[in-house]
Amino acid sequence: MSTLATPTSADTFEITRTDTPVPDAQREAALAAPKFGTVFTEHMARISYSQETGWSNRRVEKYGPLQMDPATAVLHYAQEIFEGLKAYKHPDGSVWTFRPQSNAARFARSAHRLALPPLSEADFLGAIQALVATDVAWVPGGEETSLYLRPFMYASESFLGVRPSLEAEFLVIASPVGPYFAGGVRPVSIWVAEDYHRAGAGGTGGAKCGGNYAASLLPQQEAYAKGFEQVCFLDASTNTYLEELGGMNVCVVYADGSVATPPVSGSILEGVTRSSILRLLTDAGHEVSERPITLAELKAGLADGSVSEVFACGTAAVMTPIGRLAGEGFDLTVGDGTAGPITTRIRAELTDIQYGRAADRHGWLHQLA
Ligand SMILES: *Cc1c(COP(=O)(O)O)cnc(C)c1O
Repeated sequence: MSTLATPTSADTFEITRTDTPVPDAQREAALAAPKFGTVFTEHMARISYSQETGWSNRRVEKYGPLQMDPATAVLHYAQEIFEGLKAYKHPDGSVWTFRPQSNAARFARSAHRLALPPLSEADFLGAIQALVATDVAWVPGGEETSLYLRPFMYASESFLGVRPSLEAEFLVIASPVGPYFAGGVRPVSIWVAEDYHRAGAGGTGGAKCGGNYAASLLPQQEAYAKGFEQVCFLDASTNTYLEELGGMNVCVVYADGSVATPPVSGSILEGVTRSSILRLLTDAGHEVSERPITLAELKAGLADGSVSEVFACGTAAVMTPIGRLAGEGFDLTVGDGTAGPITTRIRAELTDIQYGRAADRHGWLHQLA
């Protein structure tokens, strides 16, 4: 069931509050219409690692710039990982996050793949809990608003030799965010990239690391120049199977109500939103399969109407209907180009759980304040 984090984990963080707190009126103004990733709370949680001491110096301190030696390993070899989750304010004023144990476990897997030191679930959750408790006044309360939490870890040793860093920093920063779709959920247009890939077999596609995002930026920019909002990548080996967008998983809904999504087989990031949606779809009686989906099959299904909805999913936007899918030599409308009924219903079910408007029957919520 939903419980408070082990009290010991947050208790071990030493909290040093800023000596220049933001005036209430200024904070309220910042919370009124926050643009994603532009406004940050007054504090950050932090733990430092060295090979000799392990993880130590658990603290919450004033949010501010990091000082780095120009030879800091992350700046040269991109040894960095991150997470993204949200804190939601419920109608009674309590603050909750969603399946943070899954993010902690994924963070540990990402650390392993990037040869960074493992961070325990207690430290991951404790840092989030300590930060949100300190900056609880920064959790917005408006419809579909939340406090976006960004845990990350980077190689902090000053050394240009190529080997895993002997030092690392783990931080959590927090940013109040407004509704992803101001003015209602709106379908996006997708360009299917056939000349670029974001991840290959045996690579880092299954890890949440900054390097994967760096690789996705040029294809994203080129798609944008063609008039599309997002890119969908295909598998790097055969260029035939759907993988995912640069930062969201993808699911296909068929006219018979069944749903399919590509399996997370190493080059696809295992989304918490994806897994939650598959659960809710299964609960609602939909036949759900994780199976390879070829672009050719999807194009045929859109053309003959057997595919009725396509959506992307991830923490930031929850579920984003895809209204148009195009690539070299094709340009197809999904359904009638608007948000489909299954996408709309499951999105409402999931956000109702996150915002405390519906019963948390799977025990997905975790109280922070
Ligand atoms: C973070 C991320 C997702 C979505 O994961 P969630 O846990 O649902 O937020 C999907 N794909 C990529 C590449 C990601 O980095």
